[in-house]
Amino acid sequence: MAEILVVGASIAGQTLAYWLARHGMRPTVVERAPRLRVGGNGVDLRDQATEVAERMGIMPRVRAAAADVRGIKFVDASDRAVARMNMSRSGEIEIMRGDLVALLHEVAAPEAEYVFGDSVRSMEEDGGGVTVSFEGGATRRFDLVIGADGLHSSVRRLAFGPEAGFLRHMGHYFAFANADAALGEDRWVTMYNQPGKMAGLYRSGKHDQAKAYFIFRSEPLECDHRDVEQHRALLKEAFGHETSWRVGELLEGALADPELYFDALSQVRLPSWSSGRVALVGDAAYCASPASGAGAELAVVGAYRLAEELASASDHQVAFRRYEEGHRELVRRKQQIGPNVRMMVPKNRLGMWARNTFASSMGLLSRSS
Ligand SMILES: Cc1cc2nc3c(=O)[nH]c(=O)nc-3n(C[C@H](O)[C@H](O)[C@H](O)COP(=O)(O)OP(=O)(O)OC[C@H]3O[C@@H](n4cnc5c(N)ncnc54)[C@H](O)[C@@H]3O)c2cc1C
Repeated sequence: MAEILVVGASIAGQTLAYWLARHGMRPTVVERAPRLRVGGNGVDLRDQATEVAERMGIMPRVRAAAADVRGIKFVDASDRAVARMNMSRSGEIEIMRGDLVALLHEVAAPEAEYVFGDSVRSMEEDGGGVTVSFEGGATRRFDLVIGADGLHSSVRRLAFGPEAGFLRHMGHYFAFANADAALGEDRWVTMYNQPGKMAGLYRSGKHDQAKAYFIFRSEPLECDHRDVEQHRALLKEAFGHETSWRVGELLEGALADPELYFDALSQVRLPSWSSGRVALVGDAAYCASPASGAGAELAVVGAYRLAEELASASDHQVAFRRYEEGHRELVRRKQQIGPNVRMMVPKNRLGMWARNTFASSMGLLSRSS
């Protein structure tokens, strides 16, 4: 029975662990955080991803937990809605990231060994397997190692090299934080723009708390993804002088939130998703960025496909190749995020006006006050 180390206990890692176990393999999931990380806004499941969730038996609970957001409302400085855009699309379901991570944990945990608060320090591969040294001091042997450890993957660094070679800066930075629900309209995402900037509020119909988010255009900055104090300073620099709409209140809450999440809007582009006995899945391999609305979908579908190929192929090399051949096209399409970014963060006032006018003319949006 193949022993497989899965690094990262989020959407990709837990979906993979579940399906590996269902195919008779023995997954061990190692997560750097001391517990599941349940932060984040709504993420979308659609098409093949909902089919996978259906097969895992979690779809009724995904539907029950769905964020139930009706659409996006663009507002002006005095909180007047200048446009509304309906987001509901048949076959698509939006769920808070944390709810999905927790649901996946419920079905994967009985099937896999979990180790929290640890990570991989080094990996040494030979003809028969991979010897892994953990930061906590243990050394263990596995047949394969799969990196499901997100945008700044350590497995990718160890097996493929420094991340600078694979991360593509998409011209913006973003932040998420918890926010006071009273600041937003129930079941709407509210967005306020200044040229090249957006501050917004995500207000699900089923959650007491709302989520603030911020995006701003910028060339690459000196930024360490682990340095929270630096993130606070950069966010403050970008939005600290904004006094219009509710930016000040949202910013104050975000700067005080210990779960503030800040990063560059980046994509991961790798010529190959595997090297020897190590492969990558989810954001670690092909992050499309939160602006794509497709991170969860790509993670779920990719993890399911990888497990299927490992179960059916004659060896891991064939499986890794087929996984990649089968999943590349979906990744390529979902990485085309230009229109989404232009919609959320127009570059200038003309762009803001064009966005509102376009949405109105499509009949997706009704002007209201
Ligand atoms: C806290 C958080 C909030 C997010 N919020 C949003 C959001 O609001 N909207 C959105 O579109 N996307 C969000 N994302 C990204 C989104 O989850 C992914 O784009 C997508 O769902 C693919 O998931 P993934 O499992 O590949 O990666 P991720 O969800 O990023 O998960 C990676 C996991 O690996 C763990 N990890 C990282 N490094 C190591 C290591 N060295 N060793 C062990 N474990 C490690 C992380 O703690 C995390 O649990 C968020 C991610 C995180 C971690």
